[in-house]
Amino acid sequence: MITILRTSKQLQDYLKHQHLIGFVPTMGALHNGHLSLIDIAKAKSDCTIASIFVNPTQFAPGEDFDRYPRQTEKDIELLEQSGTDAVFVPEILDLYPEGFSETINIGSIGHLLEGKIRPHFFNGVAVIVKKLLLLVRPNCAVFGEKDYQQLLVIKKLVHDFHILTNIIGAPIIRQADGLAMSSRNAYLNNEQKIIAPILYQTLKQLEHSLQQHNPPITSLLNNAKQHLLDAGFSEVDYIELCDSDTLEPIRLPRANARLLAAARLGTIRLIDNIPIYFTL
Ligand code: AMP
Repeated sequence: MITILRTSKQLQDYLKHQHLIGFVPTMGALHNGHLSLIDIAKAKSDCTIASIFVNPTQFAPGEDFDRYPRQTEKDIELLEQSGTDAVFVPEILDLYPEGFSETINIGSIGHLLEGKIRPHFFNGVAVIVKKLLLLVRPNCAVFGEKDYQQLLVIKKLVHDFHILTNIIGAPIIRQADGLAMSSRNAYLNNEQKIIAPILYQTLKQLEHSLQQHNPPITSLLNNAKQHLLDAGFSEVDYIELCDSDTLEPIRLPRANARLLAAARLGTIRLIDNIPIYFTL
C-alpha cells in the first residue's frame, strides 16, 4: 500500500524511518512520462516518494492555474500501481505559510527562452523545488528533459544552495505520433491533436537539415518557425538552437547543441526539445 502524506508534518514523521530516498516532484495529472521518472527513482533508492502539488507561484495571473487538470485520487492509484512508496499531497498554506515572500533569481539561465516569455516562471519553480528538496531531503530527485531548461535551473539551484541531492535528468516520453506527453495535452481538441505532433516532426526535420554540411542555421530556424505557423500553430514563442549547458543561442555547428521550441495552439502552449549532434 502506498502511504499518503497530506501535511509536511506527516512527511517529516515518515522520513524518520527512511534511508535512501528517491524523489519525483509533479503537478499531478500523471501520465507515462511521470511514471518513467518513478521507475528511475525506484532503481536508485529504497524508498520512492512522489509529490503532487500544483504550485501557484509558477503561474502568472491569467495563466491556467485554476483549470490545470487535477485528478489526485486517480494519480495516487497510478503511483501505487507503479510501486511508489509514498506520495506527498500538501495544501497550499502548508507549503506557503501566511506572509511567505522569498524569491529566487536563478541568474541568466532563467532569463532566456521560457524565462523571456514567462518571467515569473523560474522563480516559482526554484522556490517550490527548494522547499520540497529541503523537506524531503532525498538522495536523488528525478526531473524530465521534457522541461529541459527547468532541469538546468534545478541543477543550478542545488549547486547554489549546497543542497546535497543528486539531480537526475530523464529522457522525454512521447506518444506514438511523437508528441511529448504532457498533462496539458488533455486540453487539446480533436483538430489540435492532429496539429500538435507537428512540433516534434518539425524539430526532427530541422535536425536533419542542420546536420548538412555548412548549414545556414538562422534561415533554417526561420523556415521551421514558418512551417509551424503554416501547419496551424497560432504562435511560435521560440525555436532556437542553443548551447546545451548555458542555453545561449549558437550559430555554428559544434558539440553540446540542443534545439528547443515552444509554440501555441490557441491558449495551449506546447514545449519540446531534442539534442543535435553535428558531425564536426
Ligand atoms: P509536471 O507534473 O508537468 O510538473 O512534471 C513533473 C515532472 O515530470 C517534471 O520533471 C517533468 O519534466 C516530467 N515530465 C513531464 N512530462 C514528461 C515526459 N513526457 N517525459 C519525461 N518526463 C516528463
